[in-house]
Amino acid sequence: MSGKLCDVCRESPPVYRQAYSGVSFCAECFKESIEKRVRRTISRYSLLREDDRILVAVSGGKDSLSLLKILARIERDFPRASLVAVSIDEGIPGYRDEALRLAAELCRRLRVEHRVYSFKELFGAGLTDARESGVLKRLGLGPCTLCGVWRRKSISLAARELKATVVATAHTLDDIVQTYLMDMLRGEFPKAPIGLRREGDGIIPRVSPLRLIPEEEVVLYAYLSRIPFQETPCPNAQDSQRDLVRSFLAHFDARYPGSLFAALKAIESRIETREGALTHCKVCGEPTSRSLCRSCELEGLVSHILGETRQLVGPDVGVDDV
Ligand SMILES: [Zn+2]
Ligand SMILES: [Zn+2]
Repeated sequence: MSGKLCDVCRESPPVYRQAYSGVSFCAECFKESIEKRVRRTISRYSLLREDDRILVAVSGGKDSLSLLKILARIERDFPRASLVAVSIDEGIPGYRDEALRLAAELCRRLRVEHRVYSFKELFGAGLTDARESGVLKRLGLGPCTLCGVWRRKSISLAARELKATVVATAHTLDDIVQTYLMDMLRGEFPKAPIGLRREGDGIIPRVSPLRLIPEEEVVLYAYLSRIPFQETPCPNAQDSQRDLVRSFLAHFDARYPGSLFAALKAIESRIETREGALTHCKVCGEPTSRSLCRSCELEGLVSHILGETRQLVGPDVGVDDV
């Protein structure tokens, strides 16, 4: 790229060439183009309203921290809107601590309220407790399954408590196409578009403002914006199905730029959203398609087995006896 200039400002040297558009960007113009595209995504799909109280789910990874930064900027133009960042502490000692610190630090810098909710206080056990107790093995579940269900539930509980009107998650274009493709590889066509606003009885809608930003551009945005983010993957991560699909799509899109956009468009134009299939969980009242939501079902099973284990071990067996 030596000797060439940014295609937008024609002043600074480019740092990134967008293969699917052919445009080369300098650092400043690139960051601006990402923020602009997020604004356009929000208005094109009507993701946010002027008076929303937006809960941003912040894990401490690059995607969620970038989303928080972009939304904090956009929110300044909407005085009736407010932002609150929520992080979930899954109880994975040594891993989550750094991410929570990075999330808290960025929230301070951006002056965004930050709240942390933990599995331990919400469900009575952290993820590592649940794994070490043998509960997951007995249920035949991987740690990521329980974690995913509980994280979703934690965010819903937080949204209710904080009176949020919408939840913003950091799913990127890549994440969404991966999920659609995984659905199809399991023999099911996606039932609902991911990250588009759907209001309904008792539902706090979830939206994905980064749904038209490729993963590699989010990484570059975080890097150019000097957002420190956690790079160590979760020690439990072993979603081998998603890893395969992710690497296939990334290779394919590198060879044939624009494929991810094309897939998203083609799939979403054929999704027929069926409304009215939801009822409410008889325990927690959250919307679900069954009588007991998946989270309450797992919570019941886990606490039942943990209770049994505690009884077997007995109350007076100390650490020294093990
Ligand atoms: Zn430029
Ligand atoms: Zn429930």
